[in-house]
Amino acid sequence: MRGNKPAFRLSLKWRFTIGLAALLLLTVAALSWLVLREIKQDQMQKVESDLKQRSDLASLRVRQTYLSGSALDNIPGFLRRRGTELAADLSALLSGAHVILYDAKGNEIGNSMPLSESPDVKDIMVYATQGKIVYEQSGDSLIYLAPMIWSVGQVGIVQLQLSLKADHAFYSSIAKSLRNIGLGSLAVSFLLGFLYLQRVTASLRKLREAADQIRDGRFLTQSPVRRHDEIGELSEGITYMSREIEQSLARQKQFIGNVSHEFKTPLTSIIAYSDLLDMYRDDPLLLDEARANIRQESGRLLEMVEKVLHLSEMEQYEFNLNAEKLDAAETLVEVCGRLKGKAQQFQLNIETDLHAAVIKADRESLIHIFLNLLDNAIKYNVPGGSIQVSCHTEADSAVIVFRDTGIGIPAEARAKLFEPFYTVSKDRARLTGGTGLGLSLVKRLVELQHGKVAFSPHSGGQQGSQFTVSFPLIK
Ligand code: ADP
Repeated sequence: MRGNKPAFRLSLKWRFTIGLAALLLLTVAALSWLVLREIKQDQMQKVESDLKQRSDLASLRVRQTYLSGSALDNIPGFLRRRGTELAADLSALLSGAHVILYDAKGNEIGNSMPLSESPDVKDIMVYATQGKIVYEQSGDSLIYLAPMIWSVGQVGIVQLQLSLKADHAFYSSIAKSLRNIGLGSLAVSFLLGFLYLQRVTASLRKLREAADQIRDGRFLTQSPVRRHDEIGELSEGITYMSREIEQSLARQKQFIGNVSHEFKTPLTSIIAYSDLLDMYRDDPLLLDEARANIRQESGRLLEMVEKVLHLSEMEQYEFNLNAEKLDAAETLVEVCGRLKGKAQQFQLNIETDLHAAVIKADRESLIHIFLNLLDNAIKYNVPGGSIQVSCHTEADSAVIVFRDTGIGIPAEARAKLFEPFYTVSKDRARLTGGTGLGLSLVKRLVELQHGKVAFSPHSGGQQGSQFTVSFPLIK
């Protein structure tokens, strides 16, 4: 992967930061739009209802003035005559607002500020003469035309002019604040996002470097990243993996070293005897000794080869287990039968106390486990000694115990007992033809069947060893 990077690659940090900022911008923009729209609608509603109230008040005032005057006066005549006076009166009533009065046809009859410039309202006047309220905005002011409708019908039109300056100023100050808040939070989020992601990507880069380092065979001594999140967990995981690979490599190296070393001893012995035979062809004593020795050493070699193959097979492949339902006690009967002859040779007695215990296990592996443990109990026993094999159930386990009155195992040797090629003493091993592979095979096989194996001294207080194997019972 390294070496052929694409020409341009936007790093994770930038992608996230830009994405985050865009999202924030969009949110602020949408919110601002909603808020500003709401304000505008609210302002318009207030202005409208305010103007409606004022124009109603104006119409009422004109009517009152008319009614309090001469009853003979007709309405259009009254309005024409007193228009200017009425406009001024209404302006005073409506706190100085600019008021213009029109007759029902839309002709001006009074203006509270005749000198000030009045905007052209011809376009909307058509609607006002038809009895409708109309208004239009011109610059910062709003022109509002409301028909004066009395019981006799429409008698005229009142025009009010309102300044919207304050409303507009308020609106634009809110808009400005929103823009500032938007830009401010955009800048802050951009900065914070960038700084945070900078740290995250720096951690990721460290992890990639750690992976490269492991690939080159330089294993990790400590977690490359310390964080209390998923990246921290990933880093712990990579460190754990590195340690496991390192240990497994070390174990393999040691195993290979041991194999070569252990093979050398019997081979050297065989070659030495062959050389001696070459030199002293006619010595019948040497002939007998050499034959016996070569036979014993090659037997040991063969056993070692078989066990090493078995072990490495289990390490390398998904070991082919044919787990089946079987009674551990029955298998023990068979194994004890096979080794009865050997025990008798050593003048040993095998006592059994077997109760049915049904487990799920591979038959071949189970026989292998029991054969090895019973064989050790015979090999490392003393003449006239005894061996007890028992099988019973305990809670949800099948418990199998091999107990012997043999030479026992010194306390300092117990920790390494199940390691490949470990022998308590070389002399012992040579004497019995042991390879130091038996117990490590037993342990692997037991674990593959989800069981456990452990050593303890003879539980009866006598000299000797006790190996306890347990497997989960079938429910
Ligand atoms: P080996 O093939 O040499 O017997 P094992 O792995 O089976 O190898 O055993 C490892 C060592 O543990 C042996 O060298 C032996 O000294 C010791 N050992 C195993 N079983 C017993 C036992 N029942 N009593 C005394 N020593 C034992």
